[in-house]
Amino acid sequence: MAIPFLSLNSQHTAVRSEVLSAIAEVYDKQWYVLGEQVEAFEREYSIFNHTNYTIGVANGLDALHLSLAALGVQAGDEVIVPSNTYIATWLAVSYLGAVPVPVEPDPLTYNLDPTRLEAAITARTKGIMPVHLYGQACEMSLIMEVARKHGLWVVEDNAQAQGASFNGQLTGSFGQVNGTSFYPGKNLGAIGDAGAVTTNGDLLAAKIRTLRNYGSQQKYYNEVIGYNSRLDELQAAVLRVKLRQLPEWTAQRQQVAAYYHQYLSAVEGLSLPKVADGATHVYHLYVVRTARRDALQQHLTQANIGTLIHYPVPPHRQQAYAHLHAPSGAYPLAEELAATSLSLPMWPGITEAQVIEVATAVRNFLQA
Ligand SMILES: *Cc1c(COP(=O)(O)O)cnc(C)c1O
Repeated sequence: MAIPFLSLNSQHTAVRSEVLSAIAEVYDKQWYVLGEQVEAFEREYSIFNHTNYTIGVANGLDALHLSLAALGVQAGDEVIVPSNTYIATWLAVSYLGAVPVPVEPDPLTYNLDPTRLEAAITARTKGIMPVHLYGQACEMSLIMEVARKHGLWVVEDNAQAQGASFNGQLTGSFGQVNGTSFYPGKNLGAIGDAGAVTTNGDLLAAKIRTLRNYGSQQKYYNEVIGYNSRLDELQAAVLRVKLRQLPEWTAQRQQVAAYYHQYLSAVEGLSLPKVADGATHVYHLYVVRTARRDALQQHLTQANIGTLIHYPVPPHRQQAYAHLHAPSGAYPLAEELAATSLSLPMWPGITEAQVIEVATAVRNFLQA
């Protein structure tokens, strides 16, 4: 039997009737944009994430963009970003005319290496955007300490790590204002595009609310040049149902990761995910590394096992960022990760038997 990279079957079966009645309720109410479902979801997500405010927006990229806009990021400002991340983190910076300044990751956790931050700080640096990559919390204590020392803000990109924590504090609650994504494949996924900003700041929350809705608090009165980036009622209604299951689904992901660790730990030439002291990992992705990555992926494809590469080209090597003139080899760790990483099937509901099948195929290939 084929094993897909991602299947939503088990999640969807568990909540199908609840989701469909929530959708029917919204359909019948005939109120579709910014209403009581969005308000309720914002309250419930704030409780989940231990923040004073959640502001629902259209997607994760907008959540980051609006966060930076609310902090007053301007053309020419420098913002520290990981050299190895999904392009969205960089794009949010670029939208405001600011400059993404890459910092390399810790080679074991793949998250922003706090010891490399200070070397990247200049007089123009305004803030730091840690990304809790693949679902593991960054070393937030050190990152927040460097930020405080240099008077910088922090915006967490929490798109992959809803429910992860560092020293007991949840990701998405450290930075002044933080973004997350509910893209369908994320740990908490909508049935379309959706995202949110989380913050404890009264003023920042009010700014984001205004920015997401045409720069307006009172209908037809516009205070600032805002955006149309609203979370719709249908997505909010679905997210409310799925949020109640998220802790259980996260526990299932962690169990799947434990199976992978068990069945892959003895394989030579294969690096498994490592979790830092104090951090938790919610395994949005289960990423292994091997020098024979491309051949391994091909072998797994032939065995009907789905895999993906997160990410094949680091942002500084993308055509979109050719103007940065970052030479090949400028960020060697990011390039090494791009060349060797492979994401194995991971979703709540994948069985131990399926994990064994994947692990056996990986082992057979690498030990042949
Ligand atoms: C998915 C993702 C985003 C963007 O979210 P969208 O909802 O797709 O706009 C941003 N950053 C990271 C790290 C992501 O994985």
